[in-house]
Amino acid sequence: MNRLDFLKNLGLLSAGATILPKYLSSFARTQFTELRNGVGIFSMQGGTIGWFTTDGAIVAVDSQFPDPARAFVDGISNFGTGPEKVLFNSHHHGDHTGGNLIFENDGYKIIAHANVPGLQRTAAQNNDNEDAQAYATTTFDDQFSFDAGDETITAKYYGAAHTKGDSVIWFENANIAHMGDLVFNRLYPFIDRNGGAMISGWINLLETVAGEADSETLFIFGHGNPEFGVTGSREELLHKRDFLSHLLEYTRDGIAAGMSREELTSRTSFDQFPDIISPSDFLSLPRNIDVAWLELTES
Ligand SMILES: [Zn+2]
Repeated sequence: MNRLDFLKNLGLLSAGATILPKYLSSFARTQFTELRNGVGIFSMQGGTIGWFTTDGAIVAVDSQFPDPARAFVDGISNFGTGPEKVLFNSHHHGDHTGGNLIFENDGYKIIAHANVPGLQRTAAQNNDNEDAQAYATTTFDDQFSFDAGDETITAKYYGAAHTKGDSVIWFENANIAHMGDLVFNRLYPFIDRNGGAMISGWINLLETVAGEADSETLFIFGHGNPEFGVTGSREELLHKRDFLSHLLEYTRDGIAAGMSREELTSRTSFDQFPDIISPSDFLSLPRNIDVAWLELTES
């Protein structure tokens, strides 16, 4: 994948930038990958969609953007059909909710943590695209669970992390969990301070979720370094935890040593984490350090 395609996949170019609309229907089918037990992933542009199908039900996690959402709702019929259709939003960011309207019009019920609709509405007002939104109509504070076929699907909230509305969606029998953007796999993460992010909470969350998993648990990640992909084991959660811990430690030590915000944010990599790449200035170590600085110096 070249750099431009990579950025487009991350959804970091303009949200209006559509890729390959001409070949959409034929290309879309190749974007579905089954993992196991009826659970799979779909990648086209934006945060990885997770899916599960069983007799009479389709469950999706995240909606990317309108074009991929259209390709998804059309293509998933090759794997299963409703009438029960459920879409979870792992959090409010536009590359995970931008296709909600397509799902809603296709009969999906949208579920998310209670903080998600408000965050999504504020972001839409700031981006002047409120017309393009559809919001979760079912929300939860701590946890939401239901059965579909042989599977039990549970969405859990662990507190503020990447935003203040992230949930992890567990497919319990398949032993697969969708992490949303709680893991940018070997990428510098986006830490959405305006959306209520908390690095210290994120570290605790990753530790807790890794502790709830076992060596067979498969995780789906919102975004990934192409070399490492968008699925992985709990080791990747612990790797991200270690990175975030180091980020806070570096920043705390620098502040204590009298380094300025500018000096601290001139650092572009940590020797201990050579695999973490920066696909754009938006996802970079200086940005991460700046958020850490704000978190540590807030009164
Ligand atoms: Zn995000």
